[in-house]
Amino acid sequence: MRLFFYTMNLNSIKRRLNTPNDIKQLFADYSLTIGGLMTGAASNAKIAKNLNAAMPPAVILHHLPDKQISAVINSDNAADTINRQYIAELSDLSKKFNLTDKLKTYSGCLWSSAGCRRSCLVFSGRSNIFKAVQYARGRRTLAAIDRPAEYVRGLIYSIGHHYKKTAGPLSVRLKGTDENSIHFKKVNLSISEINNINSYYGLNINYSDKPRVISEIFKNDNIIFYEYSKAPLSYLKRLTALNIDVTASLVADRITGAADAITAINAGYRLAVPVTLNKAGRIPRRVIISDDTGRRVDIPALSGDNYDYRPADPQKCAVILKAKQSAGGDILSAFFIADKLGPQTIGGGHIELIY
Ligand code: SF4
Repeated sequence: MRLFFYTMNLNSIKRRLNTPNDIKQLFADYSLTIGGLMTGAASNAKIAKNLNAAMPPAVILHHLPDKQISAVINSDNAADTINRQYIAELSDLSKKFNLTDKLKTYSGCLWSSAGCRRSCLVFSGRSNIFKAVQYARGRRTLAAIDRPAEYVRGLIYSIGHHYKKTAGPLSVRLKGTDENSIHFKKVNLSISEINNINSYYGLNINYSDKPRVISEIFKNDNIIFYEYSKAPLSYLKRLTALNIDVTASLVADRITGAADAITAINAGYRLAVPVTLNKAGRIPRRVIISDDTGRRVDIPALSGDNYDYRPADPQKCAVILKAKQSAGGDILSAFFIADKLGPQTIGGGHIELIY
């Protein structure tokens, strides 16, 4: 009888989350929450497709890309789309936390091109209807720049939150709308913090007295990290070494666009290719890329739009993504590949879609 009551009491203990003060303070300063730091399937059509295709649910981190944070805190910014305009509250935050100088040299996308910056997905969808979308992305961007270690620690709680909600497995993208290097940031978790996180979120993080990167911290859990990247091969390899699935992205309007794509494919990566698809259901079967030094690759192509979960796709293939017209973007820019027969000129070479 006593054993029965003892068991019952244990089962009815409500576990409490003890959010550490450094994270509480950061989130209070930038009006962030553990649940809202990352975007789950409920509020993102693209990642909802993962669920429909029976792929693991995803959460994505959205920042402002490139130098966009500097643009939106500049009151002289004369942008004519809502999602590129001045946001007074972000300007106030940057002044309050003395970030103005840091922001002058900051870029969230070191490997971007003129074409991708103009047509970035950050400017698509609801961002041009509600100013609140870029405001939230801006608050995250500022918080990450201001206190990177606390921000990464906060992300651990946010990933735990979504993991608990989906009851695992969970897939995670941290470079949703920028090329941040959060994956390389090492942070510490105390023993009591790990115990609390594990029991509250149902995770299996072990203790280490050394600082660790996020993918190492979650190595015992059913959490899969994957990213798209426009970075050079050496950087792609650094991500791969951290157990992150990487899809290289074609940058057709970069002078080395063809060569970089061939180098990534030859190293075993799949390649995301944005195409202005204009016939429903018709995507290329193969993609051929050649560069000015005489190298050539001929790889199978598949649609990347049925789901976003790239780890399910083979390596050394072209992932065809439908180019989207974003507010203020240019679907005819050299960044996008046209949906047509025959060779097309790209930076440092050619690409041909075979139907
Ligand atoms: S497309 Fe990618 S690299 Fe280009 S600006 Fe957007 S997030 Fe940055």
